[in-house]
Amino acid sequence: MKRVLFTPGPTQVPSEVLEAMARPLIHHRTDEYRQQFLEATRLLAEHLGTKQPVLTLSCSGSGAMEAAAVNLLSPGDEVIVVEGGKFGNRWGSIAEAYGVTVHKVSVAWGRVATIEEVESALTAHPKARVLFLTHSETSTGALFPAHELARVARARGVLTVVDAVTSFGVYDLRFDDSDLDGVVWGSQKGLMIPPGLAYVCYSPRAWAVAEKAKLPRFYWNLVKARGALEKGDTPFTPAINLVLGSHAAMKLMDKEGRLGVFARHQRNADATRHAVHTLGLPLFAEVPSNALTAIEVPAGVDGGAVVKTMEQRYGVKIAGGQDQLKGKIFRLGHIGYYDDGDILRLVGAFESALIDHGFSAEPGTAVRAAQQSLRGAKRPEPARVG
Ligand SMILES: *Cc1c(COP(=O)(O)O)cnc(C)c1O
Repeated sequence: MKRVLFTPGPTQVPSEVLEAMARPLIHHRTDEYRQQFLEATRLLAEHLGTKQPVLTLSCSGSGAMEAAAVNLLSPGDEVIVVEGGKFGNRWGSIAEAYGVTVHKVSVAWGRVATIEEVESALTAHPKARVLFLTHSETSTGALFPAHELARVARARGVLTVVDAVTSFGVYDLRFDDSDLDGVVWGSQKGLMIPPGLAYVCYSPRAWAVAEKAKLPRFYWNLVKARGALEKGDTPFTPAINLVLGSHAAMKLMDKEGRLGVFARHQRNADATRHAVHTLGLPLFAEVPSNALTAIEVPAGVDGGAVVKTMEQRYGVKIAGGQDQLKGKIFRLGHIGYYDDGDILRLVGAFESALIDHGFSAEPGTAVRAAQQSLRGAKRPEPARVG
């Protein structure tokens, strides 16, 4: 069956990347591998806006979250976790699994945390050493003000680690110019390659803590990984063909240009939102992320059936809600390798499936709105965060 991914991970993989990964396997302790690995690493750092080492781990995004946490913490530590969705909750679960005391700033799903909410948690818990948060909360489609929240934490000497799994490649994170101390992301979202790689980058402040942190760590020892990277290596066998795919993907992103990549995401998100708005459907997120569009399922429509019809009849795979949002929202992903034609296909399939399931709209309403948005006279400026 013909089927295209429009899920907020995994995302579409360009053919250049598929070709790079399909070649006969090479060995990782060779110049041929190291050259591509190091160039990918350099381009990833450039994209993130950092001169700090970018560490490549062979795992999914959650592995990088765990790595970023365990290397900064010691037994008896306290942390603050900002949670307003499934992925924010995950930071808390990771810290709790290691016996660390977690203070939560919980906001309703769909909302984002305010500076005041985080400030009052920092005041209430002066022993907290790290603030963990999610930038683009993929379960709700909300964009948290990560850079502003990090500024507040920094003013109190607290490190901030951000889950940027669906904001890397979507937003200009400007890591070295920010108050962020750790950022993690995975391969199957904005990087446009299959799942299996994840990344961590620390600030010098975070490295100073990591060198002395006392929680147990073996596979996730980032100090060791940093040492290996200096020699063009990883401590363990890397997912070689994914790394070669990441090299091909970063070359594509480099060719398009960082700002071009961010502007395209803005443009795709604007067109999708405009289409949804014209259908009269409310967005779920208070502050919508350019990575995905989360939409409330209209009354009287079976959300699960719409998702299924989109896949089976129109070949467009989107996501529904997770956990408490199951059946309540649609999540349309536009992270990574998506262009104007993709967006028209996405909103066309969405509108058609809604109509198939009893939603009242004139066919073409959403497609026309997306066309108008995409044809808009001005190319949008890339979104600034922080
Ligand atoms: C996809 C995702 C993750 C990582 O999930 P894995 O399944 O471990 O790759 C973490 N955070 C966010 C916000 C995500 O979208």
